[in-house]
Amino acid sequence: MAAKDIAKELERLKSERDELERLNNELDARVLEIYSLYNISKVLNLSIGIEEIFNGTIDTIGKSLRIDEFCIMLLDETSNELVVRAWYPDPVVLPCICLKIGEGISGMAAKTGKPVLVQDVSKEPKSMFYKGAATNIGAFLCVPLVGKHGNILGVFNIHKAQPNSFNENDVKFFTEVAQQIAIAVEKAYIYKNARDISMRDELTGMYNRRYFFDYIEKELSRAKRYKKHFSVLMIDIDHFKNFNDKNGHLLGDDAIKQTAKLLIDKLRTADVVARYGGEEFICLLPETPNNRAVVVAEKLRKAVEGSKYKGGENQPSGMVSVTIGVATWPDDAKSAIKLIDYADKALYLGKSRGRNMVVSAVSAVSGIEI
Ligand code: GH3
Ligand code: MG
Ligand code: MG
Repeated sequence: MAAKDIAKELERLKSERDELERLNNELDARVLEIYSLYNISKVLNLSIGIEEIFNGTIDTIGKSLRIDEFCIMLLDETSNELVVRAWYPDPVVLPCICLKIGEGISGMAAKTGKPVLVQDVSKEPKSMFYKGAATNIGAFLCVPLVGKHGNILGVFNIHKAQPNSFNENDVKFFTEVAQQIAIAVEKAYIYKNARDISMRDELTGMYNRRYFFDYIEKELSRAKRYKKHFSVLMIDIDHFKNFNDKNGHLLGDDAIKQTAKLLIDKLRTADVVARYGGEEFICLLPETPNNRAVVVAEKLRKAVEGSKYKGGENQPSGMVSVTIGVATWPDDAKSAIKLIDYADKALYLGKSRGRNMVVSAVSAVSGIEI
């Protein structure tokens, strides 16, 4: 073979080797991406709640993706705005930023459902990038988080310090990551919804007895730790059988709903009120000693007495009224169950004494009238 041909052959072999090396690198990168995706979907699959997704998986996502910074914004259903919910690598610097649909790059991606890539942020003077809260972004990729039915859940924003550092494959890859995040977010919403339904009473929409039992145990641990009082009110509508008999069951339901609303409105947001049974309600007043709980109970009793109910005129006293039993931790009982039992005993003492009154367990036991 002539020297010229050998040189040509060598040249061909060299370019073949370069091409093989390039393909090899590409393959390595693809394997790494698939491995990252596998890792991300594994951790996301294990998380049930939104907080878990954000607290437990952010690090794995960040480390697997080897990116400088990313952020997840979720669509808030009430305000219909995108809200920053997670930030990598430093979750504490969560900027308190809300964007309307269509506003900024994230808002635009959420509106169109399509990724937006800005290779050089400095050339986009009109876009503020988190309203100016995030600096040091060179290149920016925003991928919408799309739910199963095409609904927008939020956006996944990837930031790189170097401009022009996203390649063609990146958009495809981060879209796949966004799909995994969207599946996990949607699953977390379904779970939250089911949990919310399971702790609510169907008729009134207020918390149910199951929720109350969970809550009182938590309050009990808190009260023990901080050495604080708390009180329980057991509330029962007087002569409600008569109300149903005279006015019908449907009006009876309305009276229960009206009472529930009145109790929710009159209590502080820190207080928890639940439907305990048919026409019975239970309240937990945190950090409230007995004398103050009695005052609250009296306020509620008066509010019911003073409220106009359709059909209330058919009650024995000409109006709807409630009797309330009050018990306080730790004065009356040391366990949650016993405390509820004491509030119930006080309530029934009130019934036997003539109804439409507040009776405290302390006074009920000692026989002192309040
Ligand atoms: P007291 O003053 O002693 O509490 O008398 P009461 O008639 O209220 O007590 P009782 O326990 O005898 O009756 C409660 C009534 O509440 C009977 C039941 O039909 C009615 N009730 C329970 N749940 C519901 C409900 O969801 N809707 C309606 N309309 N009535 C209900
Ligand atoms: Mg009852
Ligand atoms: Mg009753």
